Amino acid sequence: MSADPQRAQLLQIAATMREYLETLRESGVTGFGQVVANTPKERSDPVSVSPAAQPPASPRRLVSGAGAEEARSASPPARVAASPSAAQVGDLFLSPKVQTAQTLEELRAEIGDCRRCKLCQGRTKLVFGVGDAKAELVFVGEGPGRDEDLKGEPFVGRAGQLLTEIITKGMKMRRDEVYICNVVKCRPPDNRNPEPDEIAACEPFLIRQLEIVKPRIIVALGTFAAQTLLKTKTPISRLRGNWHAYQGIRLMPTLHPAYLLRNPADKKLVWQDIQAVLREMGRL
Ligand code: SF4
Repeated sequence: MSADPQRAQLLQIAATMREYLETLRESGVTGFGQVVANTPKERSDPVSVSPAAQPPASPRRLVSGAGAEEARSASPPARVAASPSAAQVGDLFLSPKVQTAQTLEELRAEIGDCRRCKLCQGRTKLVFGVGDAKAELVFVGEGPGRDEDLKGEPFVGRAGQLLTEIITKGMKMRRDEVYICNVVKCRPPDNRNPEPDEIAACEPFLIRQLEIVKPRIIVALGTFAAQTLLKTKTPISRLRGNWHAYQGIRLMPTLHPAYLLRNPADKKLVWQDIQAVLREMGRL
């Protein structure tokens, strides 16, 4: 149990509300008492997507919350970032300064000794992020593991070494040329999956990190990063390999390096995704 069970309970309620709002949007409800008319025009014109959430015009495929079948469609994504962000509804305790921080240093200072969710109880160090604050490419993972928790830096354990190899040997880039962070900043106990209330509490930090860095490309590593950023429950196996969009930023989901350690045969799939990223960056 959290040291502040009332706060944990409120965060759980916020996460539930968020899921409920997402369900309403998927049903065409964009406001109380308002239902999107079921006309062909409006079906192809996603009224619930803000201009900022629209993906950039591109001849390349962009899909969101979709599998390979949908990827074959030439239609633009209809549900990119369509749900209200956690910054809007997720964290009732969020300091306004988190959303207005202008630099990563300011944001980190605002996060402070964060106790907004129960993951604070087991952490050694909060793992904020590392790399170039103006990086063209950002990798987003799930959450810190044991090594990351001890060091306070993302992706420094075995999975992190594999990610570093992907960056340095595969992409021929330096690790400090990219920016690396996670959905949740504190280690889930026993490396369990982060829970919805924890993601809801921590996601505003990720949202602001991405707003500050303004990358051109995001690589979402694994299920939780991809599903959190794309607001979908589609499995990573169907998301990966296709371009999606997050707030107008091109997003490539791929398999998590920790998964690759257990399933090395799937490294070829990640290499395919990374090659697509390299092509998009003009490096291949
Ligand atoms: S996981 Fe995020 S919200 Fe939870 S305590 Fe850590 S920094 Fe705060």
